[in-house]
Amino acid sequence: MRSMQYNNSKGSNCAFVLERVKMVFPVRILLLVCLFLVPASCRHPKVSGVVRELSQAASLATADSFAPGDSVPVTVTSTFDTSSFFTSVPIDSVVFARMSGRSYKDGCPVAVEDLRYLRLLHRDLSGRTLVGEMVANKSIADDLLEIFHALYDAGYPIERMRLIDDYDGDDEASMLDNNTSCFNYRRKAHMSSVSKHAYGEAVDINPLYNPYYRVTPAGARIVEPAAAASYVDRTGDFPYKIERGDLCHRLFLEHGFHWGGSWTRSKDYQHFER
Ligand SMILES: [Zn+2]
Repeated sequence: MRSMQYNNSKGSNCAFVLERVKMVFPVRILLLVCLFLVPASCRHPKVSGVVRELSQAASLATADSFAPGDSVPVTVTSTFDTSSFFTSVPIDSVVFARMSGRSYKDGCPVAVEDLRYLRLLHRDLSGRTLVGEMVANKSIADDLLEIFHALYDAGYPIERMRLIDDYDGDDEASMLDNNTSCFNYRRKAHMSSVSKHAYGEAVDINPLYNPYYRVTPAGARIVEPAAAASYVDRTGDFPYKIERGDLCHRLFLEHGFHWGGSWTRSKDYQHFER
């Protein structure tokens, strides 16, 4: 998907030429052009500007060539500006076709125009770089890009980041797959009000290891996902665990989010909302 940053470059002197070059030449050719022009750029400011624009175009074209779920080789992340992989755009017809009837159902309290499709990078436990995607409210989209870019730079592990529509909008299935997600219009039997997820204003991080938990007045234990019962006990050490004061917790709080792990009547360790 074309990024906002790419669109923003259209106003520059070189934009038209770049557009044409990008259409005709593959990314590797763009890189070779950059390498050829770099020595000249030291002598000529105008050439330097062209190199910058070509380099940006190559980064964005490269980012566009990877699909969500793809692994991005180190040769790519060390060559290109990783900012090109962190983009936010309005929901287009292709993305909405995935959402319609799944995460976006009749009665949804947020207009689709107020949602954004985010593409991001994240690392898994082995350190691989993966392309992630997320639908979020436009009011928090830029914050999420900053938070997830900082987590990526720090090597913070996030196993999976796909739209919940790939799980047919089934939150339990998404959590069981340890999928990090944001927007989903759903109403749970034990919830009296609509979740912040229905507005795209809440994010669940590594949910299999950071479950929702509460005890009913009758003494019944509710754990979501159900398979995460062993992670209700937060005294142990295990992968993907979110704790008060860790990088994930700090970044979300710095951006004005509240953590479900600090709730008193229930605990939702995966959940950050604003
Ligand atoms: Zn949540």
